[in-house]
Amino acid sequence: MNAGLQFEFERPQSLAELGARLAQLSAAGADYVLAAGATDLMPQLKLGLRSPQRMISLGGLSELRGIAIDGDGRCRIGALTSLATIAADTRLQALHPALTAAVARVASAPIRSRATLGGNVLVDNRCSFINQSALNRAAHRPCFKAGGEVCHIVKSAQRGKLPQCQARFVSDSVPVLLLLDAELRLWSPRGERRVALAGFHHDDGIERHDLARDEVLVAIELPAPTGRRIDYAKLAVRANLDFPSLGVALGLRAIDNDAFGELAVALTGIGTHPGHWRHRRADFPSAAAMLDAAVAAARDFAASYDQDFFPRDYRKRMIEVFIRRAAARLGGAAWT
Ligand SMILES: Cc1cc2nc3c(=O)[nH]c(=O)nc-3n(C[C@H](O)[C@H](O)[C@H](O)COP(=O)(O)OP(=O)(O)OC[C@H]3O[C@@H](n4cnc5c(N)ncnc54)[C@H](O)[C@@H]3O)c2cc1C
Repeated sequence: MNAGLQFEFERPQSLAELGARLAQLSAAGADYVLAAGATDLMPQLKLGLRSPQRMISLGGLSELRGIAIDGDGRCRIGALTSLATIAADTRLQALHPALTAAVARVASAPIRSRATLGGNVLVDNRCSFINQSALNRAAHRPCFKAGGEVCHIVKSAQRGKLPQCQARFVSDSVPVLLLLDAELRLWSPRGERRVALAGFHHDDGIERHDLARDEVLVAIELPAPTGRRIDYAKLAVRANLDFPSLGVALGLRAIDNDAFGELAVALTGIGTHPGHWRHRRADFPSAAAMLDAAVAAARDFAASYDQDFFPRDYRKRMIEVFIRRAAARLGGAAWT
């Protein structure tokens, strides 16, 4: 049997039980991994990319499941809520249609029925050198993400100097969640904290985010809608199963019927972390100049490498195409 698939399995039934167990395991320096839907995790174990001694399933924590929406439209989505549940929720479809559309583009229907929103926010970064079979990986020296001393994408990368690893950030939900000003509720045996999603992800394919080892993502919270219209478009080879080669969320906030006070852009699939910018109309002589600035910021951000089905130059060019198309869909004649 693959070494990655030999592990002890535990399924605590409450956060209190999980907390006691995590405190024990941390004190003993034990090797464990937390699993939600495991749709990202299991392929990694099967490929031998990770081989934890213990898997702790979060599946028994019913308090981490469900969607609550208050009278003002503030949402709390439990981290263990499946993407299928979110995509099918008619309240969310009405309140945040870009979010339900984005999660409906993840993977395939069977995967979405297991995959969770929390797991999607925390999904591992990918690279064509590491997300391969052991046989394929053996053709190269182990890279930093495999515990080695080289990045096959950027040869000058050095241990300890970020970004050490160029594996791509690939979550489909995060760009839209960023434009919705999402906050993350995190819990550990040491207490609870709440952080903005903006800034949570790091510029590195290995040290990907701010979650401590014994911390659990409990919920994703969205403030009351601000009137921002959001569009999400994904570049992928197939309509199903493919991670985003590029994902672009664009948001426009109106100041009156056809003038936009703010333009926001968030990207996935094109760098080590999600790119995210906001431009205020008041800072530009025209709406068209604001749109040009958004395109320029996104193109500057995109350190696109040949680690995907689509060539790097094509993906980079498509950033502008996607931003301008989304702006036309949302803003119509506002840009002329
Ligand atoms: C064929 C295939 C296609 C895919 N296509 C896409 C795609 O198009 N777009 C996309 O975004 N993803 C895609 N995925 C990846 C994955 O299915 C999704 O990102 C999914 O949402 C991950 O959620 P999960 O619950 O299965 O996470 P898991 O696999 O359980 O966990 C993912 C990571 O997050 C950690 N984690 C999960 N939940 C918590 C929590 N509550 N607290 C602390 N840590 C936690 C785990 O320890 C692990 O490191 C694809 C996967 C496959 C196999």
